Amino acid sequence: MSEDINVSDNSVNAVDRPNETHKIIVTIDGPAGAGKSTVARAAAKRIGLPYLDTGALYRGVAWRMNKDGINADEGSLMSEVLTTFKLEQRNGKLFADGVDITSHIRTPEIDRLVSVYAARPEVRNALVDLQRSQAVNGLVADGRDMGTVVFPEAELKIFLTASAEERARRRCDERIARGEKNVNYDEVLRQVIERDRYDMEREIAPLRPAQGCIILDTTDMSIEEVIDAVTSLAKEFMRQ
Ligand code: C5P
Repeated sequence: MSEDINVSDNSVNAVDRPNETHKIIVTIDGPAGAGKSTVARAAAKRIGLPYLDTGALYRGVAWRMNKDGINADEGSLMSEVLTTFKLEQRNGKLFADGVDITSHIRTPEIDRLVSVYAARPEVRNALVDLQRSQAVNGLVADGRDMGTVVFPEAELKIFLTASAEERARRRCDERIARGEKNVNYDEVLRQVIERDRYDMEREIAPLRPAQGCIILDTTDMSIEEVIDAVTSLAKEFMRQ
């Protein structure tokens, strides 16, 4: 499964559409560390829909702005960069102007910065248009505003959540699995809570459950159970 995403001209060349007869839109929103990406990617594969990881796009933008030394309050500089910046998602990887930046976007530094850039209208406008243009053949998209703003007409809207402690534990496990040393649970928990607060309290597209969504609290569920639940819900909607 792969998608090509081009921020510069909003043209998206989605390839590898596994089954074009099932063109439903499934949105999965929720707070940091709820397991959205893992669940959305696996469910998309099982259902036969393309997968769009919108958190990776916001992270890609934050990575680029940080690299160029552009602060989130420098709106015109950000807009200038976004007119030519090209992001592509392919085979689970993120490319910025052709360079694989996958290993640079899920770092503690980007975790800390991303929400500040994501709250800016210049960034959101560029990415929202792009995300919508991805949906011609249906998709599973995960993020914060998929069901509320980007795809409010989606057939299936899910809000995935879990206690902050459980989400911090999952984030720690992910980082340890990636080979990171010195992962501090208390610090991860603090960051998770802070990022949620920032995402929930921003003016544009704040994180909240969409109207008509199904809320899944995954605190006591295994990842496999969550993937099964989302897959069977989506299959129900495909039959309708
Ligand atoms: O999902 P992930 O943790 O990778 O998202 C990183 C950040 O990107 C979020 O904390 C949020 O600030 C921003 N984001 C957003 N809207 C989305 C997806 C992500 O604002 N649809």
